[in-house]
Order: sequence, then structure tokens, then C-alpha cells
Amino acid sequence: MSSVRLLLSCLLVKEVVALSGNFWHITDLHWDPTYKLSDDPELVCASSGKRPAANAGRFGAYACDSPWLLINSSVYAMKDILPDPDFIVWTGDDTPHVPNEDLGEEAVLNIISNLTHIINQVFPNTKVYSALGNHDYHPKSQLPGGPNNIYTRTAEMWQDWLDPESQGTFQKGGYYTEKLLNRTGFRMLVLNTNLYYDQNKVTQDMDDPAGQFSWADQVLTEAANNKEKVYIIGHVPPGFFEKKRSKPWFTSTFNKLYVDLIQKHHSVIYGQFFGHHHTDSFRMFYDSEGSPISTMFLSPGVTPWKTTLPGVVDGANNPGIRVFEYDTQTLLVKDVVTHYLNLTRANAANGRWEKEYRFTESFRVPDASPASMHQALERITSDRCYLQKYYEFNSVSYDLTECDSDCRVDHVCAAREVDFERYEHCLEKEGAAAIYGGLLPVLSVAVSLVLANR
Ligand SMILES: [Zn+2]
Ligand SMILES: [Zn+2]
Repeated sequence: MSSVRLLLSCLLVKEVVALSGNFWHITDLHWDPTYKLSDDPELVCASSGKRPAANAGRFGAYACDSPWLLINSSVYAMKDILPDPDFIVWTGDDTPHVPNEDLGEEAVLNIISNLTHIINQVFPNTKVYSALGNHDYHPKSQLPGGPNNIYTRTAEMWQDWLDPESQGTFQKGGYYTEKLLNRTGFRMLVLNTNLYYDQNKVTQDMDDPAGQFSWADQVLTEAANNKEKVYIIGHVPPGFFEKKRSKPWFTSTFNKLYVDLIQKHHSVIYGQFFGHHHTDSFRMFYDSEGSPISTMFLSPGVTPWKTTLPGVVDGANNPGIRVFEYDTQTLLVKDVVTHYLNLTRANAANGRWEKEYRFTESFRVPDASPASMHQALERITSDRCYLQKYYEFNSVSYDLTECDSDCRVDHVCAAREVDFERYEHCLEKEGAAAIYGGLLPVLSVAVSLVLANR
């Protein structure tokens, strides 16, 4: 081999190695400091409310938020599985689901501080991009569109992770942007979408709380001018909850503004990473022609807490953490690997985190690009086997019951349509399809009976 060819092939090998990167996404840790093992199942944790915590163990209970041992175990599992990620994305919700009276500003800050500390301690040299959740405020969900003590104090706790310029916007509105890993051409946008949450009474009458929309529009416009590629992270996602029909999180005005923002700037956006659901799902964004332009990945929570949302049946999950594999040159999301703790097994024996699934393997797609995610969604929509697989992953292999036709419509429409009107239209279309599909065999039997009787 000539030296030129040898050099070339070495360069190629080097490039292939350098192309692949990975990062952790963890979300919704919800530490409940009151968790303790007790003979009385109602006294295990404050976050169960009045619900008895059945089968509570050292690693937690499905009715409860996370005990410290589960938090500790999840952060050390990250260290075991992938000790040196390029960076960590952490999308908030640190405190337990308890009434406001049981917490307070200092209690909330203290919990954020403890979680910050353990992540910092286990990953001292890793850049962390951190977004606030609706539970990272007191009173919960009331995050204001202006400076306050919690934004200021949190910015101080996160000073190792924030560039000095990020401190300003964070203290003003809980959001910031930085070059991704300080590299030219790559950018991270950390949003405070709690400002758009319909439970947030202090921002709902504002046109643009904390000026975040106009700021994001400007950041993304400049990103396009500077030929940058952008990741967006945040906590509360737009669109609908897949486990409860017609349940959105944003107000309709803010939902529309968010969809507009993504449609306008999709050419620079290479991934959106959010939490809040505690479930494992994703949201598609399409252009006016119906081509897939962006995906929002909803990562499962660490807390197993069974939701108290009326209408959701058995809405708990196993604790989950996940690795995203991406192309470091293009920021294309190549794969998603979810790891989890089977809480029942962990409590019975000793805690073991295992790989749950690799997205491309389970859904037989080449990568996790918008086109591939669309393809996976088509499979989930039309093939019962893929639907069932998706459904079991949705609760991190907690709920293994069958996803029936109503369940299918809820999950498919939530993933496909973030826009309110289009979602309602999808319910009608897919609902009708479900009824038609269910009737078809009945009709054909009836027709053949009629024919046989002639
Ligand atoms: Zn949460
Ligand atoms: Zn939340």
C-alpha cells in the first residue's frame, strides 16, 4: 500500500471513530426525603398521598417518588454503563409530589442542591446542561417570567455547568444558550417551558413570558446565519399526554407559538430532549407538506411514581435512564439506548440496572433521524406487534397489558400531532379507522352469511 493510501485510510478510520458521540439524558428524579420502610403501607412516603405503598422496598415503591438509594443507584449506574459521556442532559423535576404546604422555598432549593451535588460528584469533569422542571419551584409550577430567588440560587448551584454569559438569562427567565461543548458550529438551547404550562397561573396571561420566545427566535435565526446545528432541551413538552386522551400541558396559545418556532427553524434543530411525562415516548413535527422535520424525544423518569391524574389507569413506570448516540459532525441522533431498573426485582434481590432496548434494533430503522422516527411511528400505527412493543417500553416495561384500540389511538395521535387541532382531527380519523377495522370482520361474516343463505 502506498504511503498516501495508508495515510488516507488512517484518516478515514480516525474520522469514523470521531464521528460517534454519546450523552446521557436523565429526568424527573423526584427525590422524596420522607421515604422509609414501614409496616404501615400508608406511612412509607409522603408522595403516595393517602395511597398505600404496596411492596415497598429499599429501592422504592411504585406509589412513591424516589428514595435516596434509588437516586444514588441511578447516578452510579450511569457511571458504570457510560462513565465518560460527551455531556449530560438533565431536564428537571427534583422534588416529591406533595402538597405545597409540605415543602417551601428552602426545601425545594435544598433538594435541587443535593441532586446537583451527587451528579457533580460522580461526573466531576462532565459538562451538564440542566433545565428547570415545574417541580423545581415553590409553589410548584408557578415559575415566574422574571428574576426571583430560586432562579438566582439555582444559577449559583449550577455555576460549574453554566458559562458566565448564561447566568444572565438564567437569572432572568430560567433559560440559556451556549455553544455545545464550546465547539464552533454546534449549539445547545436550554428552555424554561414551565412558563407555558397551563398550571402556571403567573404567566398564562402574558404574550411572551420572560421574552423567551423572541429570544429563542433570535438565537435560532443567528444559529442559521452562523451555520450552527442546535439541540433543544426542556422539561414540560408541547402536545398531548399519550396516556390520557386530549390532555395537553401547554396553554393553546403557547402550544401554537412553540410549534411555529420549530417549523420556522427546523433546518438548524437536530433534536429536542424533554421530560415531565415520566414515560418513554416521542413527538413528531412535520412541515406543511407532511414531511417529518423534527423529533422531540421524551425520556422516562427515574421516579417510579404512579400518577394521580384522573383517568390514567395504573400509570407507574420502572426507573429509566438513557444514552443518546449521535453523529458529532452532523448532530444527527443515531440511536437511543434505554437502561432501567426493574423495581420489583431490585427490591427482591439486589438492584441491577439492565439495558431495556436499543431503538434501531427494536423498531428496525437505520437511525433515530426524523425520517426514521416517522417510519417507526408508521410501524407502531399499523402493526400490532410494534404497537405492543412501543407500549411496553412506554412505561419502561412496567405495564405489560395489551394496548387495545383506544390505547392505540391515544398513543399514535399524541406522537404524530403536537398541534391541538390536528390532534383532535387525528383522534377522529384513527378512531374511525379503529371502529371500521373492528367492524370489518363482523361485516364480512354478515355478508358471507347473507350470500350463503341465497
Ligand atoms: Zn415529573
Ligand atoms: Zn414535570
